[in-house]
Amino acid sequence: MANAKAVIVPCVDPRFYHAHYAEGKRLSEEVFNGPVEAPASAGSVSSLLVGDDFARGLLANIGVVAVDLHHVTNLVVIEHEGCGYYEAQAENGDERFAVTPETEKDVHARNARAASKIVLEKFPTITNAIFRYARLDGTIEDL
Ligand SMILES: [Zn+2]
Repeated sequence: MANAKAVIVPCVDPRFYHAHYAEGKRLSEEVFNGPVEAPASAGSVSSLLVGDDFARGLLANIGVVAVDLHHVTNLVVIEHEGCGYYEAQAENGDERFAVTPETEKDVHARNARAASKIVLEKFPTITNAIFRYARLDGTIEDL
């Protein structure tokens, strides 16, 4: 099986599919100079802070496919504005996911880094993490 340079984890929100796809293509061509894979997961990697079914599925996918099968060494997290997973967790009383328009990007940055530590510690062959943030207008920026 072919190796891949990175596992890119965007959220499942269909409003961002085209932006996520374009970002994956850009990263593959301009940053990693090789193939990447992109299993979407609700809330991107942030579900790892909750430890729910999304988290278990994401960890299984990263472990079995990205690490064992494709030997990736890079993790790319793409969080996004207006995330329904964040809204649902906040409604369930998890303050780590509560956002306002003023704090939203910072909350995503904090959670993405905390959740990525879980991935990097569990899979030590992944040694690099990149953080991106998709806006509702389709643009993607550093997180
Ligand atoms: Zn989302």
